[in-house]
Amino acid sequence: ATPMSIVVGVNKAAQDGILIKRGEAFERLNGVKVMAFDKTGTLTEGAPRVIKTIIDKESLILAASAEYPSNHPLAKAIVNYAESMGVKPITVSEFNQLEGMGVIAVVNGRSVGVGNMKLVKGMEAYLSPEFRKLSEGIESEGYTPLFVVIDGVVKGVLAVGDPLRVNAYETVNEVKRLGLRTIMLTGDAEGPAHAVAEKLGIDDVYADLMPDDKARVIREVKTKYGSVAMVGDGINDAVALNEADVGIAMGTGSDVAKEAGDVVLVSGNLKAIPRLIRLSRTVVSNIK
Ligand code: ADP
Ligand code: MG
Repeated sequence: ATPMSIVVGVNKAAQDGILIKRGEAFERLNGVKVMAFDKTGTLTEGAPRVIKTIIDKESLILAASAEYPSNHPLAKAIVNYAESMGVKPITVSEFNQLEGMGVIAVVNGRSVGVGNMKLVKGMEAYLSPEFRKLSEGIESEGYTPLFVVIDGVVKGVLAVGDPLRVNAYETVNEVKRLGLRTIMLTGDAEGPAHAVAEKLGIDDVYADLMPDDKARVIREVKTKYGSVAMVGDGINDAVALNEADVGIAMGTGSDVAKEAGDVVLVSGNLKAIPRLIRLSRTVVSNIK
């Protein structure tokens, strides 16, 4: 593309709430074969809420306390739920956010973990057949099961649900109509991942991914289909956004993602994505 057509494109994009950080983004977008979407916070609101719980009050207090220092959307959901139940969080003495897994903290001298099955395994916690069954049920309903581990034993399970973003359905379908393959990458479990993908008509789903796995999937998809754009919001998406031919960050997301992106959707409106693809086609065709 000519410098002039790029300037015109950058200006047009800005009017649509799209910040183009690198002018080459247009040319690369024009050749993109696959659009990869992160799930949580990108296709979904990322503001999940607790749908149901199988937990006693003491364990809930410990879980909410362990999640209190985290700014992960799932942590917020648990803290909000606990507050709605009249539970006040206790100060923790150790706190670790384990990306793609959950949190571990020490609360009142007890070791407390809240997170997914990977966390349960990583902590080598005891998971009773009852809690395992309950979590499988939660997953098959399309919700995310979160385990509460106290002193090495799973003491409760919480079902958390995250509503789809407005325009998610339209966006995925527009992108498909523009001839791109759509894929979803998520750190979430298979159940909720497939439930969301089916509702949206996403072509391929990759679930249970750690941040580096997302980047690996992007590399694999590149080899298979050609160039790939990825849209994401989280700290856990930054490596994959860098790996993609075009990284698109949600303006509503983390600063790390915004730094990694070549493009930022300022207000996080997904509808800007098909517009951006069309715009890149115009910008590039102007020079030929
Ligand atoms: P995504 O890739 O869909 O944006 P994340 O990588 O942020 O999702 O999280 C992946 C999974 O890790 C979550 O679905 C959850 O199971 C677990 N997890 C991450 N952070 C937390 C937390 N603070 N509390 C509980 N679970 C968490
Ligand atoms: Mg995310």
